[in-house]
Amino acid sequence: MKKLVDLHVHSNESDGSYSPADIITFAANAGMSAVALTDHDTISGLAAASCRANDFPQMAFIPGVEISAEYSPGLMHILGLGINPDDEGLAEVTAGLRDARANRNPQIIQKLRDMGIDISLDEVLEASCKAAGPDSVLGRPHIAMVLVKKGFVKDLSDAFEKFIGTHAPAYVPKDHLSPSQAIAAINNAGGTAVLAHPVQLECTNELQLETLVRKLIHAGLGGMECYHSSHNDIQTRTYLKIAKKLGLIITGGSDYHGAGKPDVSLGHPAVPLSVVGEENIRRWSGQACGHPA
Ligand code: AMP
Ligand code: FE
Ligand code: FE
Ligand code: ZN
Repeated sequence: MKKLVDLHVHSNESDGSYSPADIITFAANAGMSAVALTDHDTISGLAAASCRANDFPQMAFIPGVEISAEYSPGLMHILGLGINPDDEGLAEVTAGLRDARANRNPQIIQKLRDMGIDISLDEVLEASCKAAGPDSVLGRPHIAMVLVKKGFVKDLSDAFEKFIGTHAPAYVPKDHLSPSQAIAAINNAGGTAVLAHPVQLECTNELQLETLVRKLIHAGLGGMECYHSSHNDIQTRTYLKIAKKLGLIITGGSDYHGAGKPDVSLGHPAVPLSVVGEENIRRWSGQACGHPA
């Protein structure tokens, strides 16, 4: 049987709905040979995930993170795979990003309240599926959940479209790192910086993407997430072509969020371990609990 990996998964330390330990159990039950926990702006779930991973010696656990970088018109997310969970620099950088969010969330809520939408920060905390840990991440998806729950919108996309999306009235921009800063923070923590879901950059053609990726490589990018639940076959083939041409490590993952993105399942799309490279998986998982790949 082909060995498969899922190198992009969220827990309730950011906007997923299951705990880091549950994520590990689900991934093992799904038969994954490796899984990476890649929460937005926090590494607070890695210790619990790493502990649970000891119960599944057949599966490599890869400590990761996902950092949003300054970019327009689309979104640029950089995954850090194989980071040292105890790296102080990365802890500091992610703490700064969480502080920025802590300032932003009340501003979004205030804008909503000014529009007559009665929601509170406490309700948003409750929607985050966990007692608010000091390092856990609260974001727009949690605000959207409250808007759905209270009947202001029909679903999460409706919430982004009508209220909190980039072009909606209660939108508040978030402070970002530059792409080079995000890449450097990951490299300094011993990880590999990987361009997540390139489709979300919204490049208009292949050459534009290739030019951008070349710049990111110059800044220290090491891989590209060619396989992702939001890529169609044509996109996947294009990204594989660019990654091979530019000598990047090919990665892939589901971007599983649990209930927040019900159409996405752990382990889908199928990402063969052989495409990512056994050597890379071993190197990335080596940092976690001395766990063999
Ligand atoms: P934040 O980091 O707080 O700005 O929230 C961004 C997150 O919101 C993204 O990572 C997505 O998971 C989610 N998101 C963004 N746009 C949408 C949308 N249109 N529908 C549902 N979820 C979205
Ligand atoms: Fe997310
Ligand atoms: Fe992302
Ligand atoms: Zn993600």
